[in-house]
Amino acid sequence: MRRIFSQYAYASGPREGCWWDETVQSISHPALAGGIRCDVVVVGGGFTGLSAALHLARRGAQVVVLEANSIGWGASGRNGGFCCLGGSMRSDMALDRRYGHAARRDWRTTERVAVERVEALIADLSLDVDRHSKGETCLAHRPRDFRAFEDEARAASENYGVIVDVLSSSELELAGLSGPFHGAITNPIGFGLNPRKLIDGLVEACLELGVVIHDNSPAVRITSGEVKTPNGVVRAEQIVVATNGYSSEDIPNWMASRCMPAQSTAIVTRPLTEAELQRQGWTSDQMAYDTRHLLHYFRLMPDRRFLFGMRGGLLCGPSAERQARSAVVHSFRTMFPAWSHVDVTHAWSGLVCLTRDRVPFVGPVPGMSGILAGFAYHGNGVAMGVHAGSILAALASNEQPDHHPEVMSTPATRFPFGSFRRLIMPGVYTGFRVSDALP
Ligand SMILES: Cc1cc2nc3c(=O)[nH]c(=O)nc-3n(C[C@H](O)[C@H](O)[C@H](O)COP(=O)(O)OP(=O)(O)OC[C@H]3O[C@@H](n4cnc5c(N)ncnc54)[C@H](O)[C@@H]3O)c2cc1C
Repeated sequence: MRRIFSQYAYASGPREGCWWDETVQSISHPALAGGIRCDVVVVGGGFTGLSAALHLARRGAQVVVLEANSIGWGASGRNGGFCCLGGSMRSDMALDRRYGHAARRDWRTTERVAVERVEALIADLSLDVDRHSKGETCLAHRPRDFRAFEDEARAASENYGVIVDVLSSSELELAGLSGPFHGAITNPIGFGLNPRKLIDGLVEACLELGVVIHDNSPAVRITSGEVKTPNGVVRAEQIVVATNGYSSEDIPNWMASRCMPAQSTAIVTRPLTEAELQRQGWTSDQMAYDTRHLLHYFRLMPDRRFLFGMRGGLLCGPSAERQARSAVVHSFRTMFPAWSHVDVTHAWSGLVCLTRDRVPFVGPVPGMSGILAGFAYHGNGVAMGVHAGSILAALASNEQPDHHPEVMSTPATRFPFGSFRRLIMPGVYTGFRVSDALP
């Protein structure tokens, strides 16, 4: 397995301290030993892989899931739990230029459908996922971002068919959204959830339908019709690669240089008291983020713990991890000074996945018969990963998928600089930081 971060990113260090692990008692699954045969083998046990497995099993396919660590070990089991719109990092104008207006509209509809798909699954499987928040609130970190909300309101109506709610800075206090913000815009689509509870619900549904799951079974070689692990082999007509930010350059070889993993770090506090919430003026149950490129995302969870996260760590290793966590704590205390005494009880980080085209790819791997892949939701994969899994299931069953727009079915192009491509990121992040700091 050739990967572009040091081994530390793929081991337990960044994951230690993840709050979600304390909220569930997940079951483990035996590692693959020996040779087996099935209809479809899924590589990667996150939202993409589990959703693909579930949608395939519902069609009657025999499915095996191979997970290198344990189910939900990757980003799916350690994210912020924002089930929201998103998946690309392209503006409407950029999408129109590259794919055309109609394709952009299809893509935006797909974002909405992805959230609805998770909502339908939760209802269908009767899952309790600690849901809260009526849509998602974006907070302007400077006056000009607030002024841009007018255009965003128009775009939300065109793209998603919704009416957004805009609040000026003087209205934030009453809405329980006090902080260093210049106004807010709330899109009614989306909700917050406990991602591990969603994972466990998907696992249970998969097992009920006969899906076979193997933990500690990394795919070490993928060729058409066959996936090898250190102690076994699975032969299947269709292979679904769902490894996202934890992908290897050579599993399969086509993946080389098509993914850029990027780090995101999150913290969770102890439960806040009502008096503490009042003192800060943040009492809202809305999940929220700010308008920075290197955005902060945060939400007061149903148990009154506060989750706060941020993208942007560049280096990888124990001391870089400590620094990334301290940077998030610092940003949290700066944004919410009334909570500067509040203990941060949990902190962790993980890898999201970007492409050079800054849109996801979900579809057949070119030139490799019977191999499909889905990855790169640009840090918004709770809903889009689940939706991608449903597309992969349809494709593996030779069916026409619902909502598989051109934007996400065009094969990802390669980044320059091969395995040294992370060198691009300091420049990108510096550009973002400078742009975020401008008045
Ligand atoms: C800190 C953080 C916060 C985030 N917050 C949000 C959020 O609030 N909302 C949102 O929408 N998105 C968020 N994301 C992004 C989101 O979590 C991901 O986009 C999504 O979980 C991707 O799902 P996935 O199944 O494609 O990949 P993953 O969940 O990363 O799963 C890939 C799996 O593949 C396994 N694997 C890798 N190689 C192999 C191999 N060779 N053989 C077998 N298995 C292998 C890995 O162990 C891993 O478990 C966040 C991510 C992070 C890291």
